[in-house]
Amino acid sequence: MRLILLGPPGAGKGTQAKMLKEKFKIPQISTGDILRQAVKDNTELGARAKIVMDAGQLVPDDVVIGLIKERIRQADCKAGFILDGFPRNIAQAEKLSETLIEMSLKIDKVIDLEVNAEEVVNRLTGRSTCPECGAMFHHISRPPKVSGVCDGCGGKLEQRLDDNRETIHERLKVYMESTAPLKEFYKKQGNLKMVEAKGSVEDIFSNVCKMIDV
Ligand code: ADP
Ligand code: ZN
Repeated sequence: MRLILLGPPGAGKGTQAKMLKEKFKIPQISTGDILRQAVKDNTELGARAKIVMDAGQLVPDDVVIGLIKERIRQADCKAGFILDGFPRNIAQAEKLSETLIEMSLKIDKVIDLEVNAEEVVNRLTGRSTCPECGAMFHHISRPPKVSGVCDGCGGKLEQRLDDNRETIHERLKVYMESTAPLKEFYKKQGNLKMVEAKGSVEDIFSNVCKMIDV
């Protein structure tokens, strides 16, 4: 099973990808997570990526394409994978198609999580994440039991640097200009499935699963 999760920042791609990963026992490949790890590890890539990410812009295509090409060739991707945050523009999607053809593989479904811009801003401005276990919280819709502390593992919750109003606005703009056209791209290939990303995480997940079964 090879899946792509599409949708604006804050649509819940990461959350749904983690649930799909458990259900189908295939890895979640998030270019955002890979890049944030590189920033944490202070690698050369991380240093370059940080400037772009903090501004809400896209990291250069050749960088993310390189990361993905290497990642999907690893042994744990044999049974499939979930792409979360990649591709993010037409050039990346075309390169992905080429790579998959080379490997005699294909994408089964592209799940487009739909959510409006106002909701995105609400979700992202109140969001915090546990750096230890990846759990996500929201100060209104999913507050941790103890403020600033992860319910699951006791880790100290962090806010992403790019989850501020100004950068969110920029990320949305980039999404509209560069990423949203991918819906048309995959629609033409016939494997685009739309899911309204409203309501509880569980309800959205059940709708995502329905789309995968058809
Ligand atoms: P979100 O979808 O909430 O914006 P991500 O974690 O997917 O968050 O991405 C965070 C940042 O990482 C992006 O704003 C961008 O700078 C960079 N990034 C992630 N994936 C890509 C990609 N495929 N191409 C270019 N830049 C990317
Ligand atoms: Zn935790």
